[in-house]
Amino acid sequence: MIQIDALPAFSDNYIWLLQDTAKRRCAVVDPGDAAPVFAWLQAHPGWVLEDILITHHHHDHVGGVEALKRATGARVCGPADEHIPARDLALAHGEQVRVLGLDLEVIAVPGHTLGHIAYYTAHAPIPLLFPGDTLFAAGCGRLFEGTPAQMHDALQRLAALPGETLIYCAHEYTLSNLRFACAVEPHNASITQRFEDVTRLRADDRISLPSNMALERLTNPFLRITETSVKQKIDEWTGHANEGEVAAFAALRRWKDGF
Ligand code: ZN
Ligand code: FE
Repeated sequence: MIQIDALPAFSDNYIWLLQDTAKRRCAVVDPGDAAPVFAWLQAHPGWVLEDILITHHHHDHVGGVEALKRATGARVCGPADEHIPARDLALAHGEQVRVLGLDLEVIAVPGHTLGHIAYYTAHAPIPLLFPGDTLFAAGCGRLFEGTPAQMHDALQRLAALPGETLIYCAHEYTLSNLRFACAVEPHNASITQRFEDVTRLRADDRISLPSNMALERLTNPFLRITETSVKQKIDEWTGHANEGEVAAFAALRRWKDGF
């Protein structure tokens, strides 16, 4: 049985810590800063950091890798198509990596960066997804390197995962994403409810994650561009009809960038 906790880093990053409590071994996802991981290890003597999983090359995700590797000897796993410091295992789409006894599947999700990967397991006993900066709760990552078509495709692939899949996003962006979602779908009761729920959580300084795929399909505008009301709002914002899903997605992403 794997327990998963968030180690907050910087202003809004989460380093996900996977713990095999029986064997006292752990793994981290996207340690942009080594300090929170060292602090946890110091507070938990006898625990071994076995693996470091990386989703993409941005500094807020890899900044702590070299120090952690040097101190613990943990294996560094990351995308094959990006420069990842101290990487031991280069992973490509469709490959599997065994971490703390879990078989994680690698899904290519280009868009935010070109070599971005996500980690997924269907057998945890609840399916788990670590999407990095591709899918956020009620939002998605910015397009720094890829095209709207690539990102739309990547999000569609993730959206097809089982509804109960728990989603461990790399940033606490949920509340600002929901503010935008409310503007896109003012009459969506699920979004209104989630906005209230997350407002309350954040007022108490509590985490809004993990999310799950069923909730994302109901409340994430970037997974809902085929909904008539969403499409209409996007066309309203651009001032013309956007033909096709990719054009609608690209316009929605541009709208959010300036929101
Ligand atoms: Zn990033
Ligand atoms: Fe990031």
